[in-house]
Amino acid sequence: EDAQDQEQSSAIKVVVRVRPLLKAETKTGARQTVLGINVENKEVRIDLPGTNGRRTFGFDAVLDESQQQTDVFEKAGMPALIESVLHGYDGTVFAYGQTGSGKTHTMEGFTYAEHAHRATVEPQLETTDETRYGITPRVAEALFARMRAAERDENVQFRVRCSYMQIYNEKILDLLNPQHLLLKEGREAKATVARRVDPSELAGLRMRFSSASNHFYVENLQEVECTSAQDVMEQFRIGVRAKVMGSHKLNAASSRSHCMFSIRIDTLDVTRPDEPKYSSRLALVDLAGSERVAVTRATGKTLKEAGCINKSLFALRNVITAISALQEKQATAQLGDAEMVSKLRHIPFRDSKLTSLLQHCLGGSSHTIMIACVSPSDAHAEENLSTLAYASRAKAI
Ligand code: ADP
Ligand code: MG
Repeated sequence: EDAQDQEQSSAIKVVVRVRPLLKAETKTGARQTVLGINVENKEVRIDLPGTNGRRTFGFDAVLDESQQQTDVFEKAGMPALIESVLHGYDGTVFAYGQTGSGKTHTMEGFTYAEHAHRATVEPQLETTDETRYGITPRVAEALFARMRAAERDENVQFRVRCSYMQIYNEKILDLLNPQHLLLKEGREAKATVARRVDPSELAGLRMRFSSASNHFYVENLQEVECTSAQDVMEQFRIGVRAKVMGSHKLNAASSRSHCMFSIRIDTLDVTRPDEPKYSSRLALVDLAGSERVAVTRATGKTLKEAGCINKSLFALRNVITAISALQEKQATAQLGDAEMVSKLRHIPFRDSKLTSLLQHCLGGSSHTIMIACVSPSDAHAEENLSTLAYASRAKAI
């Protein structure tokens, strides 16, 4: 009975964020005419490319280019999500959109010192302007502020652990473990700093299913205990640095991989400390670019790579489409509650690493926020249309 209630409480909140035109775009004369952003009505209208038609999509919130990082944190509903995570629910935030639409800015917001020719890139994390910080650093602050208050006022104590993984080509790499770029057995010696790496050479961590927790998990993924927001930030920085350095070894890895920073929180009752009162997880995901790869131009390795990226993203789309179809049926009483629960079990979560790891977030008792990132430039009309259409379908969940 409990499980049923929980299944039904699953919900995806969908927020669209339109980034400003960048200086470089303004210089090339990019224009914004096909997008109509209505913040008040929470709608985005888009003129369909090559026709006189237009479509309007509705969302839970629409954030235009004037919205700063703090506004996004509030208006996307992060404070409420953090609250529910501290009450034992799992939470997921994922940024979706084509490459260049603002996903990493939204989730991370760091600035890097880019030296593309060197593998020793240092993200300028220490000196960066904190007002630029994205969702993950703000989560660290807000979470610990909330936990400190609860520890003061209630009989609770928290235990926090972080991990950070990258899913590239269906390989799971550990961003908190500097060995993440090590190659398959026997080939480590060749993994010199400057060498470019073929994705097929990567070892990758194994994903396993735990029947005890009814979850997939990543074997040997480093989990670091954190006792302050600064600790969390430090781990996040370490991972971002590993990601940025890795992207110089793996061509275009950053746009083609999914990065998931997870914060696991055990809530302990201080009067009964041996057994966690709640255990929940907050996953902050910067998805691979959603753009369709020009298959005609992609050959060999690139094609294979594209196929793999699509594997996780396509699986995510399929899963979301399937859940939304079920929920529509349920809403119109074509599907009973028990039937719903059993059908949810048949959704193809196991088709990819990403959906396997997010299964309990999308199908279970959890709260999910999807931030669909959109570029304002007319040059991206096709991709924006596909992002908006997909995001509005997810909203039905
Ligand atoms: P993605 O991760 O989707 O590929 P990025 O987050 O890297 O995209 O954004 C692409 C570029 O646009 C970056 O230079 C980033 O700094 C800039 N950008 C994205 N969103 C914003 C925003 N809201 N305000 C200012 N600059 C932004
Ligand atoms: Mg990015």
